[in-house]
Amino acid sequence: MQPETNRICEVLTNPIRYGDDPMLDGVHIHSDLEGFTDAQARRALAGLPPAGDYEVVINPLRYRSSPHLAARCEFEDRRIVLQVPIPFRPFKEPVVYAARRKRGHGIRFAWASETVSFRLRREVLRFLYCHEWMHWYLFEELGKRSSAETACDRFALRNFRRFQVSVADADAALRRRSRRRAVA
Ligand SMILES: [Zn+2]
Repeated sequence: MQPETNRICEVLTNPIRYGDDPMLDGVHIHSDLEGFTDAQARRALAGLPPAGDYEVVINPLRYRSSPHLAARCEFEDRRIVLQVPIPFRPFKEPVVYAARRKRGHGIRFAWASETVSFRLRREVLRFLYCHEWMHWYLFEELGKRSSAETACDRFALRNFRRFQVSVADADAALRRRSRRRAVA
């Protein structure tokens, strides 16, 4: 069984309209967080790979009981939306970075997970961006249609604390997945 979590990640393949699109020419990273400018958002995500011509939008997450991770990748609108828990306080979240089918009757999975501490807003943004970026990469660059949550988390977990992340790091995260499959 997967660890219990409030985690939200949505991959939207259908267009969603939010009225008139206020997207401005040349704006790729936009923050809707109070007291957090576009420039600060850009600095927080510095060193992470660009997602083609997708716009990156940062929104507040007004959580009910406790802060958690929430983000989405909107293929039709060519947008990645990252949410920052407001009010922000440090929190922990279990992250599943590997899953393997177990032998036996029915479909059973063995999960490998790690509890990750998010102490800073920047850490949340970088983790979420890496995760959603991998959805973008699988869909737009590799033409894969599956959602691959575990691969996205594995890539995010390995890379969100690094200063520079490249496409090669993504390929490395995916190669491990294929190898595991071959072994299983
Ligand atoms: Zn996801």
